Amino acid sequence: MRKLHELEFDNTYSRLPEEFYQPVNPTPFETPHLVSFNPDAASLIGLDPSVVYDPEFVDYFSGKRLIPGSRPIAMYYTGHQFGVYNPDIGDGRAILLGEVRNSKGEKWDLHLKGAGRTKYARVFDGRAVLRSTVREYLCSQAMHGLGIPTTRALCIIGSSERVERETPETGAMMLRVAETHVRFGSFEAFYYEDKHEHVKLLADYVIENHFPRFVEEDDKYALFLGEVVGRTAGLIALWQACGFTHGVMNTDNMSITGLTIDYGPFGFVEEYDPGYIPNHSDHFGRYSFSNQPAIALWNLRKLAKSLSALMPREISQEILESFKKRYGESYFEIMRRKLGFEEIMPEDGELIQELLNLLEEGRADYTNFFRSLSGFSAEGFGGVKDTAGIFKNEARFEKWSASYKKRLRAENSSDAERKKMMDSVNPKYILRNYLAEQAIRKAEQERDYTEIALLHNLLKNPFSEQPELERYSEPAPEWARSLVISCSS
Ligand code: AMP
Ligand code: MG
Repeated sequence: MRKLHELEFDNTYSRLPEEFYQPVNPTPFETPHLVSFNPDAASLIGLDPSVVYDPEFVDYFSGKRLIPGSRPIAMYYTGHQFGVYNPDIGDGRAILLGEVRNSKGEKWDLHLKGAGRTKYARVFDGRAVLRSTVREYLCSQAMHGLGIPTTRALCIIGSSERVERETPETGAMMLRVAETHVRFGSFEAFYYEDKHEHVKLLADYVIENHFPRFVEEDDKYALFLGEVVGRTAGLIALWQACGFTHGVMNTDNMSITGLTIDYGPFGFVEEYDPGYIPNHSDHFGRYSFSNQPAIALWNLRKLAKSLSALMPREISQEILESFKKRYGESYFEIMRRKLGFEEIMPEDGELIQELLNLLEEGRADYTNFFRSLSGFSAEGFGGVKDTAGIFKNEARFEKWSASYKKRLRAENSSDAERKKMMDSVNPKYILRNYLAEQAIRKAEQERDYTEIALLHNLLKNPFSEQPELERYSEPAPEWARSLVISCSS
């Protein structure tokens, strides 16, 4: 494990041509201080977690000092935002400090969000607010805990700087860690400028650094696109199964390695509603929960279009067509496990769909219902009976549970074993919006960061019973039901 000044940088992206980025240093904060630190993210990059106690730690992650060997750049990208191409994006307020290699040879981007204006900042201030950094910090932890590919977060640094949003808020920076920050929009940028040699260069770069097994293959670009399609399908299946709704699935927020990236107005479905829209400025619900698979495919089409000079159209069409099957298979595989099925049986799809219909009709708490379903036994409903009160149509639920019982018997399911399996896929704890809000209010109003640390720790093990924190699994209280999330982060 290394100290900060011992990190080994290998800044591969800044060896690409200058059109790919702008070299730019962070703009430091006045009076920065540590808000929260994630030792697991430190270990990931080979950093000794005790560095958080070094007096210069905060300076390094608030833009005051540069870590020796880092070469800060803002990455250039464009993208489709709410369906419309925007040629004018790029890292406007996040700076890639550099890429480090840990002792295993893995390369990790150190990406400082809220680090000040870059040439891609347009009219914006280059800053991030404490509220949005806390949300990203906690949600990336929650997703990691759920086993969903995501960027990670090393720390949040707070400040006394005021940042104008819908109301004035506290400025903050967050250090994000990921294998790469290349997005679909990184390819679109050069495609729409007719710089096809740069598209090829970027594809070669991504293949070499992230999909090295394709390097020697004749059809490496098709394999690459196929891999992105497969990873994206798998990612969205995981989102849909746990109720995660990203909120801004623009192509510039789609990771080329299939990570959940750019947490803005996201939300977990709480009372089950497929039409759930977390972002209050998404008036038409383009990015609603149930639209996510279709939007992912729409975004993949834009990526494929950007790669069109690298493979024949029939090939990319065929690859895109595989999305539906790959998504469907992944989703049903996870849902089957959520219902406790080991085997595949023909009635499974219908059982899953009818359950979702029932949950929707009763606006049942999605997470808590599935968690309680492991208490279902051949003898009776167990914990599910209590939840059953939420079902408007008891008779319909009874009918469903009779089929469910029959289905479990058909594979000789053992109650004890099934419960164990189900509890490892149906989380007890998710990042409910009100929980994030409580942590944010304490941080914003009292500089009290204990709730952030508590949630961060809780969400590390979302499948484990944590009896002293049982209350964190409860649905939103009355005061939190009208909370809205804005896009301005
Ligand atoms: P996002 O919605 O966070 O994915 O951001 C979309 C685009 O707007 C990206 O190019 C960001 O860099 C840019 N952006 C968002 N907020 C700011 C800000 N406060 N300052 C500069 N650029 C920003
Ligand atoms: Mg973004």
